[in-house]
Amino acid sequence: MKYGRIYNFSAGPAMMPEPVLEEIAAEMMNYRQSGMCVMEMSHRSQVFQDIRDEAEADLRKLMGIPEDYQVLFIQGGGTLQFAMVPMNLMKNGLACYVETGAWSKKAIAEAGKYGEVRIAASSADQNFSYVPDCSDLDIPDSADYVYICENETINGTTFRRLPNTGGKVLVADQSSMFLSRPCDVARYGLIWAGVQKNVGPAGMAVVIVRRDLLRDDLPDFVPTYLRYKIHGGSDSLYNTPNCWAIYCCGKVFKYLLGSGGLEAMNARNEEKAKILYDFLDRSSFFTGSVRREDRSLMNVPFVTPSPEQDAAVAAAAKAAGFDNLKGHKSVGGLRASIYNAMPKEGVAALVDFLQRYEREHG
Ligand SMILES: *Cc1c(COP(=O)(O)O)cnc(C)c1O
Repeated sequence: MKYGRIYNFSAGPAMMPEPVLEEIAAEMMNYRQSGMCVMEMSHRSQVFQDIRDEAEADLRKLMGIPEDYQVLFIQGGGTLQFAMVPMNLMKNGLACYVETGAWSKKAIAEAGKYGEVRIAASSADQNFSYVPDCSDLDIPDSADYVYICENETINGTTFRRLPNTGGKVLVADQSSMFLSRPCDVARYGLIWAGVQKNVGPAGMAVVIVRRDLLRDDLPDFVPTYLRYKIHGGSDSLYNTPNCWAIYCCGKVFKYLLGSGGLEAMNARNEEKAKILYDFLDRSSFFTGSVRREDRSLMNVPFVTPSPEQDAAVAAAAKAAGFDNLKGHKSVGGLRASIYNAMPKEGVAALVDFLQRYEREHG
């Protein structure tokens, strides 16, 4: 690792690709002869408009986003989308949610403030350590959409098969898996992702929404800023956007395009995650927390025999240059987040460390 940087296993904000950070550093004082930093630029200037347009075009290419979908860059991070989704998509006032962990629970609670939520399936019975069977969900005719958190960042599960929504619109929170594998956008009505997990700086979400779902018949009390249609009608420039995040995300989109796209990312992520999961399966001291077939390639939760030993491992790891291995406060244990930007060497070095730890303390 260059610059004294360390392997950072944070769940988010998380590591960025080093070549992207280097490019940003090189453009910091004077972006392409503009005489200014992107942070100092008018969001109405041509030079920023080009940054925005290029970011969108690159994302469209990367994911193969069909023409009838709009791409939005919206502030408020991931959490605002918990509210915007029901406010914009609940027409009949009823939606079905699949409950798979901490982030879908937050989405459910927020949607419940606005309309009626049905839990279509849940894995609460086993501590959210698996993804429930969603091949035959009971979905009322009047349901406006079916919602999933496609990768549960805290619990470490991921959907390998999308739910059968019975023809209803599928909405997915892809925050912690966005751009980690190919995605057939046409199967969704709306995809959203907070970008600080796998793409860029915190404070923004990318929303990919089918154009026919951009409604202008929302109830009067829905605030202007919370209407997708407002953002869509203004190229996400209704007000001053998170220019810096759009710029950094655009860099990452281009970097991914130049690195073989999402097929290549998926292959790399499979290979990386396998190193860690194979170790956990061999170990008699560390245990993975998730059912094998539902394991996330991005967030890998695991435990030792006791919470005290979990804490000791996290502290020893930090001292050895592997930061942020402590599990989320709501579930404890340990968790390694290994997003696109985590190099394979980082995962291999972590496994070496854990192996040594087990030999000495296990
Ligand atoms: C982090 C995260 C969020 C929340 O993102 P914020 O930008 O912190 O509001 C929502 N969903 C998932 C799956 C996440 O990982």
